[in-house]
Amino acid sequence: MIDSSILQGKKAAYFTLGCKLNFAETSTVAQELQRYGVTKAQKGETADICIVNTCSVTEVADHKCRQAIHKLVKQNPGAFVVVTGCYAQLKPQEIIETPGVDLVLGSNEKGNIIPMIMDKMTGAHTVRTAEILNFAPSCSRGDRTRYFLKVQDGCNYYCTYCTIPIARGRSRNGSIESLVKQAEQVAADGGKEIVITGVNIGDFGHTTGETFLDLVKALDNVEGIERYRISSIEPNLLTDEIIEYCATSKKFMPHFHIPLQSGSDDVLRLMKRKYDTALFRHKIELIKSLMPHCFIGVDVIVGTRGETPEYFEDAYNFIKSLPISQLHVFSYSERPGTKALEIPYVVTPQVKKERSQRLLALSEEKLKEFYTSQIGQVRPVLFEHAPKSKPMHGFTDNYVKVEIPNNPELDNKIITVTLGDFNKEGDALCAK
Ligand code: SF4
Repeated sequence: MIDSSILQGKKAAYFTLGCKLNFAETSTVAQELQRYGVTKAQKGETADICIVNTCSVTEVADHKCRQAIHKLVKQNPGAFVVVTGCYAQLKPQEIIETPGVDLVLGSNEKGNIIPMIMDKMTGAHTVRTAEILNFAPSCSRGDRTRYFLKVQDGCNYYCTYCTIPIARGRSRNGSIESLVKQAEQVAADGGKEIVITGVNIGDFGHTTGETFLDLVKALDNVEGIERYRISSIEPNLLTDEIIEYCATSKKFMPHFHIPLQSGSDDVLRLMKRKYDTALFRHKIELIKSLMPHCFIGVDVIVGTRGETPEYFEDAYNFIKSLPISQLHVFSYSERPGTKALEIPYVVTPQVKKERSQRLLALSEEKLKEFYTSQIGQVRPVLFEHAPKSKPMHGFTDNYVKVEIPNNPELDNKIITVTLGDFNKEGDALCAK
């Protein structure tokens, strides 16, 4: 039997790196610890417990994790320091040898972090990185009005550049019944918008024999939730049926985030992605034919091994030709243990930078074009809290950022507005 009184009155500091999923998980741990009487250490206070939720997507991410751990250990002498997440799963020994670290928990233990902290606070330094089988449920409120509901974890794909399947384990998910209950709880707490998150959400259902479309339909019926956004979904798993369903649903927003990674079929083959550019174009065109005002964000990686100048030009031209709204551009980073390292052609850092800049400029053009096409449109906006002296912002159903003068009464309200011109900063449209 674990004695939970050990936590009562303690102060905790949290540090999260990486994806939305990590942020959702840290926020869930913080909420749970609060139930045991642990409060968040405020600025200037020394924490008794430090939790670092790490990422390992690039070598830079690993470096940032190490820096964060050193900083927390230094700022909070004597604190019980727990490190979890992808970096902890991949390099547990490296972390446990870091002075000041008490507990290293891999992805499988994330859901048991609190009992493990209670158990170990009096014990020795421990590493637990078992085979990853557990699904740790997580639903958190972001800084803004949105909630992030984790529906799936892990990945069964083996894209040649990616370490996520090793760091987060095989694909697994919560049951539709449990996820609907979590969404109902969000509605009971006054939440209006949920972002459905996971590592490879389209692959939902391995644990329970259900499908992502079943989940979408079930969530659509939850009373009180007015908006859902589907976070990044693999193009081959974004079925035509899901697109068609979203086009008729009032709650699933006209907004998709789809990883393309490369617009060259040759590079896609080297990456071992499960689609080609023809399939990707079909998905984008279907979305646009059913939802002409849909916002489509696309992930791209530049400078992967094998991306010759010709392949990059093919990719650039393909991306340019698509009616998409924004690009999220990532520079390829070599990861130990990945198959991509067997590809001999290496892109220099300078070329990577130039390619990244070209795609970022293209993204800016696309975003501006999309926003300009929305001027004069009448669209619903969910407004978010802002400090008194600052203008308020919110997002339309199709993910256009909108600015209005501050009005606290509109906080967390959905109001239909006519979209006017760009604001001063050029990053939002003003409501007329
Ligand atoms: S789909 Fe590919 S890139 Fe995405 S997590 Fe799985 S292996 Fe990594």
